[in-house]
Amino acid sequence: MFDRASVVTPGGVNSPVRAFRAVGGTPRFMVSGTGPYLTDADGREYVDLVCSWGPMILGHSHPEVVAAVQEAVTRGTSFGTPGEGEVALAEEIVARIEPVEQVRLVSSGTEATMSAIRLARGFTGRAKVVKFAGCYHGHVDALLAAAGSGLATFGLPDTPGVTGATAGDTVVLPYNDLDAVRAAFAAHPGEIACVITEASPGNMGVVPPADGFNAGLKELCAAHGALYISDEVMTGFRTSKAGWYGVDGVRPDLMTFGKVMGGGFPAAAFGGRGDVMAHLAPAGPVYQAGTLSGNPVATAAGLAQLRLLDDAAYAKIDAVSAELRTLVGDALTKEGVAHTVSAASNMFSVFFTDRPVRNYDDAKQQDVFRFTAFFHAMLARGVYLPPSAFESWFVSTAHDERAVERIAAALPAAARAAAEATA
Ligand code: PLP
Repeated sequence: MFDRASVVTPGGVNSPVRAFRAVGGTPRFMVSGTGPYLTDADGREYVDLVCSWGPMILGHSHPEVVAAVQEAVTRGTSFGTPGEGEVALAEEIVARIEPVEQVRLVSSGTEATMSAIRLARGFTGRAKVVKFAGCYHGHVDALLAAAGSGLATFGLPDTPGVTGATAGDTVVLPYNDLDAVRAAFAAHPGEIACVITEASPGNMGVVPPADGFNAGLKELCAAHGALYISDEVMTGFRTSKAGWYGVDGVRPDLMTFGKVMGGGFPAAAFGGRGDVMAHLAPAGPVYQAGTLSGNPVATAAGLAQLRLLDDAAYAKIDAVSAELRTLVGDALTKEGVAHTVSAASNMFSVFFTDRPVRNYDDAKQQDVFRFTAFFHAMLARGVYLPPSAFESWFVSTAHDERAVERIAAALPAAARAAAEATA
C-alpha cells in the first residue's frame, strides 16, 4: 500500500508525520478501529495511543457516535444552507466554555487559527502576530515560523513557499518567557494585533505553561490593546470539559477548537468575545467562509461525542493517563534511561532527558535516538505510539484494563531497547 501511495501522493502520505520518517520504517496502513485498538492492513492489532492525534477521545467506532453519523447521513450529506445541527454544536461549545460568546464553525484547526488571526488583525487594525517557538497552529503561512509538530519532527526551521512579506509580521518568541513578550510589546508599540499560544502546548511534546504564564500573556495583551488567542485545537474538550480554560481559568479574547469537537470528522471552530466576533462577515467586515463549514454529518458526530463527555468520562481518561505515565516512567527508570514524563492534565509525552523541559530548545536536547528505539519496540509488540518524539500521546475512555495490560507487557523490552540504543 505504501508503494502504491508513494506513486500518487508526495511521500506516500496526506500529512507528513504519518510517514514514519522521524523513526524510520514503513507507516502502518490502518483498516479499522474499535475502542482502543487499531487493525492494520496485515491484520495486526495495536493499542492506539495516538487516537487520530486527539479526536478519538471515546475510542474508535463508539456506537453512539456511529449511530448519530448513520442517522445524519441518511438525511443528506451537505446542504450549503444553515442547519439545526450546527446551531446545536455551537450552543454546546458556548455552554461549555464561558469566554466563548459566539462561535464560527470551520473544517480544520488550520482554518480556525488562520481565521482567528485575520479577525484579530481586522479588529485591531494592526499587522503583527506573536507566536511561540515549538507551538504549532496548523499550516497557516504566517504561523509556520518555528512551529512544532511536523516541523519539529523534521527539524525544518521554516518552509519554502512562505514569503518574507507573510512571515515578516510574525514575531517568534521562546515559550514560557514573559520577559520576551514584554520586550516584544516594547519593540513594536501599537503594532501587535494578537498573541497566539497553544493553551498548553502538545506539539513540541507536552510542555505545560509555567504558573502564571497564560495569565501574564492575557495581562500584557490587555495592557497593549492586543488580543489574546488561546489555541485549544488539541486541548479543547480533552484536558477537561471546558478544555484548558477549565484548568487554568485564564479568559482569552479568542479561542480555536478542532479535533475532539468533530468526533473524527472535519469540524473545527473559532470563537470568543461577542464584540470581536461581531466583526466577522456577514455581521461585520472581516471575510471568512467555507462550502462545508458546519457540515451536517460532521456536526452530528461532534455533538454526539461532546454529549458523552461528562465528568465521569474525564475522570476515566485522567485515571488511565496517570496509570500509563507511572508504568512508562517506572519501566524507563528500571533500565536507567534518563527521561521526563511530562503531563498536562491527561495529555502526556516522554522526553528522553532528565533535564527540565520548559520550551522548544529544551525539548530538542533530548536523546531522540532513544525514542526511536522505544517506538519500534512498542510497535513490534502491538502498541501504536506517535511516530515522533515531539508529539503528545493520547488516551480515550475506551482504554480499559486489557489495553493497559498490553501496554504494560510491552514496556520492559521497549525500555531496554531505549537503554541500549546508540546515537
Ligand atoms: N492548532 C493546534 C494546537 C494543533 O495541534 C493543530 C493540529 O495538530 C492545529 C492547530 C491544526 O489543526 P488541523 O490539523 O485540523 O488543521
